[in-house]
Formats: sequence, C-alpha cells, structure tokens
Amino acid sequence: MVKAEGVHKSFGHAHILKGIDLEVAAGEVFCLVGPSGSGKSTFLRCINHLEKISAGRLSVDGHLVGYRQKGDRLYELKEREVAAQRRDIGMVFQRFNLFPHMTAVENVMEAPVQVKGESRAAARERALKLLDRVGLGNRTGNYPSQLSGGQQQRVAIARALAMEPKLMLFDEPTSALDPELVGEVLDVMRGLAEDGMTMIVVTHEMGFAREVGDSLVFMDDGVVVESGHPRDVLTDPQHERTKAFLSKVL
Ligand code: ATP
Ligand code: MG
Repeated sequence: MVKAEGVHKSFGHAHILKGIDLEVAAGEVFCLVGPSGSGKSTFLRCINHLEKISAGRLSVDGHLVGYRQKGDRLYELKEREVAAQRRDIGMVFQRFNLFPHMTAVENVMEAPVQVKGESRAAARERALKLLDRVGLGNRTGNYPSQLSGGQQQRVAIARALAMEPKLMLFDEPTSALDPELVGEVLDVMRGLAEDGMTMIVVTHEMGFAREVGDSLVFMDDGVVVESGHPRDVLTDPQHERTKAFLSKVL
C-alpha cells in the first residue's frame, strides 16, 4: 500500500529524512516510533502531500505521490490530480482541528458534500453511521467545544473515514489527551484495524503497538534504525539507540 525507497527530505540546509526505506502492506497496522525531531511527522506529511520529498521514490497504492512516470521521466501531477490522490488518504493529527462552528455531524459531512459533491441527505446519513461507529451516536448535534478531547478526536477519525480512505495516517492521535481519554480513542483505532484498514500510526503508546501493530519501525535522526514485529522490537531491541529510546517510553 505504501512504499518508500530512499526517501529524503530537506528543509533548506536541514536534512531531515535521510533515505527512508519501508513498505506497508494493505491491511497492516504499521507503527512508527522514535524520539522527538526524528522525522516521523515529516514522513507522514510527505505521504499526504503536505510536504514534497527531496529525493527517492514514494508511492501509495502503486501510484507515485505527486508524480506520474513516463519512461524514465517524472512529471508533476496537476493540482486536481494531487487532490484525487489525497482523497484516498485520511489523516488524524494530535490536535483534532475540528471546525468549531459546526456540530459533530456537520464536521463529518463537510468533505463528502464539499469535495465529493455528495447530497447533504446522503452525507448526513453516512455521517450519523460513522459517529455511531466511533461511539458518538448520542453526540451528533454537539459542537466541538461541548465535547471532551477524546470525543473530539473520535469525531476527527469519523471525519477522515467519511471520505472512505484506503489509508489512514495517525500522528500521535492520543498524545494531547488526558490519560483517562486515551483508551476510548485507541479502542476506535483497534476497531478500524480489525476491519482491515491500512494504518500508519505514529505513537508513544507501546501497549497499542504491541497488541494491535503488525509492524513497527524505530526511526531516529531521519533513518530507520530497526524494524520488525512490534513484539520482537519491543521485547528484544537490537540497536543501542532503540534500547535507549524504549527504556524512556516503556
Ligand atoms: P515529534 O515526536 O516531536 O513530533 P517528529 O519525529 O514528528 O517529532 P518532525 O516534526 O518530523 O519530527 O521534525 C523533524 C525535524 O524537521 C525537526 O528538527 C523539525 O524542526 C524539522 N522541520 C519539520 N518541519 C519543518 C519545516 N517546515 N521547516 C523546517 N524544518 C522543519
Ligand atoms: Mg511529530
């Protein structure tokens, strides 16, 4: 589903991603962990067209992100084509970024109506189902300010799902939450995983990675230091840098 080959990213002189190679299979829960500043968010943002890679190849579902290849040459996609690629990718951030002036159901309906041109009635019906799925069937008319952080984050997940993405990216979706609200968001993510969604999850929740993850990559300073099954990497890390990191978060 996602393939990175020698992906580099620089911001001016700052070399952030230094040759990332990894592959995420369809249906997989792929956990990305690493210290602050190692480039995890930057990598997710490259997948979702929020940043452009500086070198290497990055593809989603067999299509190069942002480019089309003809023979040996790469052509940049037009804005409309980029928008079409982005539609297949849902992203959930640390901060929920809901539209504050819209209710939960309106937040979830917004993109299907505005981007896909779905009728409001059809979009509302689907939004209500999605909110039910994330356990918010009784909160559909609430504004974000009337919801807890965990509830807002679940609305954000429903909103991403409303576009029927092939891939979901989660960037530390629980790290802004009070501890007692983390579980309800992880439960929704676990449900998504059970339904077969392909997910890349940047997280410090090692319990989640161990129980739900299929693969885990430890990244440091813009490179993949170590990867494998979460159980193996978490219980028997091979590299000093992984050991040092895990001793701080576990
Ligand atoms: P954290 O765990 O703190 O979220 P991270 O692994 O997600 O860290 P990134 O946010 O990807 O790290 O940042 C990696 C490095 O890239 C940091 O040093 C950051 O300052 C730098 N960086 C990110 N975005 C930009 C930008 N737009 N311009 C310049 N530097 C940037
Ligand atoms: Mg980050």
